[in-house]
Amino acid sequence: MTYHELKEQENQYVMNTYGRFDIALDHGSGAQLWDVEGKRYIDLTSGIGVCCLGYNNEKIIDAITEQAHKLMHVSNLFTTEPMVQTAKTLCTQTGMSKVFFSNSGAESNEGMIKLARKYSYDKYGEGRAEIVTLYNSFHGRTVTTLKATGQEKFHQYFFPFTEGFAYASANDIESVKAAVNDHTCAIMMELIQGEGGVLPLDSDFVHQVEALCRENDLLLLVDEVQTGIGRTGSLFCFQQYGIKPDVVSMAKGLGGGVPVGAVMAADTCDTVLGPGTHATTFGGTPMICAAANAVLSEVTKPEFLKSVTEKGEYLKAKILGFGSDKVKDVRGMGLMLGIVVDADERAALVKEIMDAGVLVLTAGTNAIRLLPPLSISYEEMDEALAVMQKVFCK
Ligand code: PLP
Repeated sequence: MTYHELKEQENQYVMNTYGRFDIALDHGSGAQLWDVEGKRYIDLTSGIGVCCLGYNNEKIIDAITEQAHKLMHVSNLFTTEPMVQTAKTLCTQTGMSKVFFSNSGAESNEGMIKLARKYSYDKYGEGRAEIVTLYNSFHGRTVTTLKATGQEKFHQYFFPFTEGFAYASANDIESVKAAVNDHTCAIMMELIQGEGGVLPLDSDFVHQVEALCRENDLLLLVDEVQTGIGRTGSLFCFQQYGIKPDVVSMAKGLGGGVPVGAVMAADTCDTVLGPGTHATTFGGTPMICAAANAVLSEVTKPEFLKSVTEKGEYLKAKILGFGSDKVKDVRGMGLMLGIVVDADERAALVKEIMDAGVLVLTAGTNAIRLLPPLSISYEEMDEALAVMQKVFCK
């Protein structure tokens, strides 16, 4: 089908909930995508941080194919090896203790919120269920995670939302202290606010939050849905901050392109969710965990993680080196970068870059967000940089 035929049928049959670009994608390889009309793009989006090993990755495809022939799905009433293997790798690589598998980022955050509330209920009884999150955060689109998201624009239409969230300012420990009270059970944050604009939290602030949690027996919940699985140059971003979260949520990159999420708990709270307290039909299903194991076998290699840091630094230095007054800053870590531009120039810049064959994202009000496949080659980066330089330096 041509783009126009597809679009016509999409408009007829698909709910119009996304502001989609005028591109219909057909296939990909490495960090390159082709649309239905054969136009080629360098992809700096990886399906919003999902396809961390690029497109048409043989290792992931083989793992899925082999496992699909063997056993695609069984219920969580039975034990399966791929699921145990994924959990073991996540724990041994991080020092965390136990994993619960889900299917998406929002669902992982739901699990993390449930775990924090039950931890507090088991120890202190009712009335200590409030979770402090940060303004400008993003935690998902369910009725609970929308309310956990510290942005007023997400608290619309779907009333009543789940109660029990308070908000504080990022990088302002006094604001966090003011939001904590006798009803608080946890503090939840992204270490780099992704959707909010690619804004890394200050290390001092993160350590102060950790100390506040320890002083008050609050669980420290870290949302690594976007920052996890090698994206920032370590398997998880919390490892670079040098903190010990009680619970970490993840999704996106874990499956390299298949839907999977997980909640990982430290030994402080790894038995809180016992039999019958939490479940999901597809969580940890063998075929999906086979893909996760293929991803983790690559992403946990020290030389792979080093290459992510180096590629991120390369992109940052080259973009700042354009010397364009349209580029105000480049922020972020590893291959999670935000090019800061004038808010009112951003839409036009993005359109020009995309028209010239490079796919990019936006975040917050003034960032052009880059989340390329972690496996992107230097040739692919150079091609994308040449396009961006032309647009920024016009
Ligand atoms: N948390 C963070 C930090 C995210 O970036 C996202 C998605 O962008 C989510 C949660 C929600 O994940 P999902 O869309 O898989 O539900």
